[in-house]
Amino acid sequence: MNESKIPYKIYLSEEEMPTTWYNMRADMKIKPAPLLNPGTGQPVTLDELSAIFCRELGKQELDNDTREFPIPQEILDFYKMYRPSPLVRAYCLEKKLDTPAHIYYKFEGNNTSGSHKLNSAIAQAYYAKQQDLKGVTTETGAGQWGTALSMACAYLGLDCQVYMVKISYEQKPFRREVMRTYGAAVTPSPSNTTAVGRKILEEFPGTNGSLGCAISEAVEAAVSQEGYRYVLGSVLNQVLLHQSIIGQETYAACKKYDIKPDVIIGCAGGGSNLGGLISPFMGEKLRGEADYDFIAVEPASCPSFTRGTFAYDFCDTGHVTPLAKMYTLGSDFIPSANHAGGLRYHGMSPVLSELYDEGYMRAVSYEQTSVFAAAEEFARVEGILPAPESSHAIRCAVDEALKCKETGEEKNIIFGLTGTGYFDLYAYQQFNDGTMSDYIPSDEEIEKYKANLPKI
Ligand SMILES: *Cc1c(COP(=O)(O)O)cnc(C)c1O
Repeated sequence: MNESKIPYKIYLSEEEMPTTWYNMRADMKIKPAPLLNPGTGQPVTLDELSAIFCRELGKQELDNDTREFPIPQEILDFYKMYRPSPLVRAYCLEKKLDTPAHIYYKFEGNNTSGSHKLNSAIAQAYYAKQQDLKGVTTETGAGQWGTALSMACAYLGLDCQVYMVKISYEQKPFRREVMRTYGAAVTPSPSNTTAVGRKILEEFPGTNGSLGCAISEAVEAAVSQEGYRYVLGSVLNQVLLHQSIIGQETYAACKKYDIKPDVIIGCAGGGSNLGGLISPFMGEKLRGEADYDFIAVEPASCPSFTRGTFAYDFCDTGHVTPLAKMYTLGSDFIPSANHAGGLRYHGMSPVLSELYDEGYMRAVSYEQTSVFAAAEEFARVEGILPAPESSHAIRCAVDEALKCKETGEEKNIIFGLTGTGYFDLYAYQQFNDGTMSDYIPSDEEIEKYKANLPKI
C-alpha cells in the first residue's frame, strides 16, 4: 500500500480484533527460570501457587508451551468497551523533529484507568469470578493498576482491596477517589493492618513505601481472608500473556498497512506493557523469521536492567512471595521518590530478563528531567498529555528518530504510549517550576543491595 495512505490513526474493526493472547514462552528455546518456593528451594507447584493466585491464572503462569490462548468471550466483550486501541502515526512529531524516520505509537490511555493495565485487570478479575471468589487484594504504585482492577471488579461484582504505596496515596488523592468510586477499599502502604506492614514500619519508620512493601501486605491480606486471592499488575508471566493483546493488535495494524517495524520501544517497570507490545514480533525473532531492535527504557533512578543483577530474588520487600529469577536491584531496594511511580519496581519480568540476558533486546535508562522534556515536546505537537512512565519511551523514540536524522535512515519506529498523565500534574508542576531533581543511585548503593540478594 502507498505510504502516503497511512492514516493518522490506524484502527482495527471489531472483526479484525485479535481473539487470542500469544505466549512468547512457547517460542523461547531457553525458558524463563521457574519460580521457586523460598522454603524448599524447589520450583513452585500449581497447588502452591493456587494458595495465593486464582488457579487458572496459576496454570497460565506455569505454561511455557501453549502458544495461543483463546480470549474468553466475556473478556473480549469488555475489551470492546475501550479496544482496539489506535496505532497512531506521529506525523506532527516527525515534522517537529525533521526526521526521515516514521514514528508510530500504540496508545493505551483511552480508558478511565489511563493505562494498559486494564487489559490484565479484567482477565484476572474474570478468572477470580469463575472460581467463585469473594474478592481480590493487590498493591498499586502510581495508582493505575489499582484503578484498573477496581474497574474490572466493579464490572464483575467482586470485592477489591488495594494497598497503595504511601507516597502515591498522599501525592495522588484523586487517583484514590477514582478507585473508591469504583468500590475499592484503599489502604496506604506500609500500614499497620498487616503483620508485614507493621514490621516494615518498625524497621523503616517514616518510609514512603514501595511496590515491594505493598505487595507483601496485599499477599498477606489475601491469604488471611477466606475467599480472597492476590493479583499482581505486572512482572508475572500471566500478565505479559494478557498484555500480548497490545502486540497482537499492533501486529495486525502493521500488516494492514504493510508497515515493517525496525525499532520497537517500551518503558519498563515490571515489563508487562513492553512484553505485551513486542510479543508477536519477538516471536518472529525467536523463530528466526524477522529481526527487530527491541528497546526497554527505564528510569535512571531504578535501573533494574541496566545496572541490576540477573539472579533469584524475592518479588516483595517482606519476602512472602516466591523467588523469581530476574534482573533485580534487590528486594530491599527502595527507589527514591521518583514521580514515574509505575516504574519504581526493583525487579523485572522473568521472561524479559531471560530475553535480555540472551541478547534478544537491549535496555537504556534516562533521568527524569530529560524524560519530562520529551513529554512536553510530545504533548505540544501530538496533543496527548503522556504519563511520566510512558514518557520514558517517548524520550527514547525521539532520540532514535534524531539518530535517523543524522544517518538519513527511514526507520519505522514504534513505541508504546502506555497512558495519560492527568494524575501526574504535581510532577509536571515540579518540572515546569524547575524544581524537579534527578537521582541516580551510587555504585556503592547498588552493591549494597546486591550483597543482600538471597543465596540460591
Ligand atoms: C504501570 C505502568 C507502566 C509500567 O508497567 P509495566 O508493567 O512495565 O508495563 C507504564 N506505564 C503506565 C502508564 C503504567 O501505568
